[in-house]
Amino acid sequence: MLTGRVVRIVGNLYHVENADGEWDITLTGKIRRARDGASKPAAVGDEVEFEPGSPGEGKLLRTLPRRTKLCRAGGSGGRIESVLVANADRVLAVFSSHNPDPDFRAVDRALVMGEAGKMECAIAINKVDLAPPPPEMEAYRAAGYPVFATSAAKGQGLADLRAWLHGKVTALMGPSGVGKSSLLNALEPSWELTTGELSLRIQEGRHTTTWVEMHRLSSGGYVVDTPGIENFGLWGIVAEDLPAYFPETRALQGKCRFRNCGHESEPGCALKAEVEAGRLTKRRYEGYLSILRELRESAPAERW
Ligand code: GDP
Ligand code: ZN
Repeated sequence: MLTGRVVRIVGNLYHVENADGEWDITLTGKIRRARDGASKPAAVGDEVEFEPGSPGEGKLLRTLPRRTKLCRAGGSGGRIESVLVANADRVLAVFSSHNPDPDFRAVDRALVMGEAGKMECAIAINKVDLAPPPPEMEAYRAAGYPVFATSAAKGQGLADLRAWLHGKVTALMGPSGVGKSSLLNALEPSWELTTGELSLRIQEGRHTTTWVEMHRLSSGGYVVDTPGIENFGLWGIVAEDLPAYFPETRALQGKCRFRNCGHESEPGCALKAEVEAGRLTKRRYEGYLSILRELRESAPAERW
């Protein structure tokens, strides 16, 4: 029995790396049947145990417990857990200042999934050669998130980003077209990832093939590229837990009149006072409320 880390999944083939090299790991019929209709038995970033067979091949035995996980609701109706990346230290939410314009609601959601999955989060606002970073970025900075203003096209802001990525496993997350692949190519030209419309076309056909992939930075550390994720469903979060996933509400714990304040319409709410005093932007507060309402409307999530 050997262990290794899943770096790429193509259909039902798990590409695993360890000190001995690279392995193509398949699922045994038993695992496949047991998981029928459920989520995949392993995600990119997972540490797995496998039984080696022919050179460079093996059978998956077990996925080891995860330290962190970046999830979304998957399957039909969003009823199963879809783990995009396992065991990442960090999440980099990538957006562009223009073309497409940043969708702050999507930024909030990406950060919440990162926080809920126990990862440190940051934002890269790319294409700053087209438009300056939007003022709302200051709200995220004030919340404590590092914000990197980058231009993959002009090579701006890459040194700071590289320093932040150094020595960690970072999952990239963001809609398609914002320049994730371009940014990775700018950081590491040898990767030669496909960009632009071509990459969109490949991704369409990619759902069953390469989907999420882990790349090693020559300076140390890894980045995990995920496909452009637009409107993903939240997973594994209940409304009561949401205040723990917003740094602004976390910081106010115990300051509201009610201990379990949802910061919505309760009297004596310290978060509302922050908005009224101009210390928290209305936009970010509304972002919080929008996720809160979404969680209240959806069926109770599984706790994890
Ligand atoms: P992805 O879908 O997030 O991986 O985005 P791509 O890397 O494929 O980039 C989408 C499009 O935006 C391509 O046409 C890129 O050339 C362009 N692009 C990426 N980064 C920048 C940038 O910093 N500035 C400008 N002006 N265009 C960029
Ligand atoms: Zn409150």
